[in-house]
Amino acid sequence: MKVFHGAVEGAISEQRGATFSGVVWADPVMPTTDGVTINNVSFNPGARTFWHYHEQGQMLYVTAGSGWICLEGSEPQVIRQGDTVWIGPNERHWHGANTRNFMVHTATSIGKTVWQEAVADVDYLRSAD
Ligand code: MN
Repeated sequence: MKVFHGAVEGAISEQRGATFSGVVWADPVMPTTDGVTINNVSFNPGARTFWHYHEQGQMLYVTAGSGWICLEGSEPQVIRQGDTVWIGPNERHWHGANTRNFMVHTATSIGKTVWQEAVADVDYLRSAD
């Protein structure tokens, strides 16, 4: 057992670039422990992840704002504060803010995350249709 206390005084947030589009900040909640990683992630309007999948799945809990989650081959779905999403193992997807709101979620990822290509603007903006 390990206890991970809240934000450590002086700890700095990480700006995420390589696998995200737009302005995205992350604070670790629990560093990878027994294959489980937990982060609070903040997306500016228009920001989103690249396409990716999680080898053993991921749970998202939206703590503020609203945005979109999209499973490949399906229409994007609206998610907003209070919503919980379970993404199964190896389901290719992306998530992020919408164009007019920020979105903050707590992401609990199990196993390795495999990052792929950026979500094209044409696919991202399809969410707004
Ligand atoms: Mn994900």
